[in-house]
Amino acid sequence: MTVGARSAICSSIAARPHEETAVARDIDFDLIKEAKELASRCYDGKNHHVAAAARAPDGRTVVGMSVSHFLGGPCAEVVIIGSAAAQRIYELTTMVVVGLAGRVLIPPCGRCRQALFDYFPSMDILIGDPPAVIPIAELLPLPYRRWLTDPRGVSSMGGNHEDPFAGR
Ligand SMILES: [Zn+2]
Repeated sequence: MTVGARSAICSSIAARPHEETAVARDIDFDLIKEAKELASRCYDGKNHHVAAAARAPDGRTVVGMSVSHFLGGPCAEVVIIGSAAAQRIYELTTMVVVGLAGRVLIPPCGRCRQALFDYFPSMDILIGDPPAVIPIAELLPLPYRRWLTDPRGVSSMGGNHEDPFAGR
């Protein structure tokens, strides 16, 4: 896929009916800049392809690079979840994911959408050029909920969850 084709995909995502949301919310351009600078600094074309940066409610940022490995290395978004916990940050409000050595804002993959939704269900994702703010819940309509199949899953899947069976 060409760079132009990828940009077109990101642009088409940004042009979806999320624009009302994008207009109503501020774009965190500092976070975008940080993610792009990280990508341009740390993209190595081999093991670390995608950069991500996330904003905590107190203004701190958490950054991460993807880890390529044949066992299924984690995407940058998942690296951030662990890195945030290492700083005792358990809430993130906004995330931006950057590909192509910092040239494009890309949407999280399906696996990351589920993980981000589970950990930070109110998180916004910045996607496209120009960037749009898209809530993670809109990126993952009808999300999988483990407790719908196994109530014990509430405590074992990670993330911020209310136990729907509490008190029953
Ligand atoms: Zn991913």
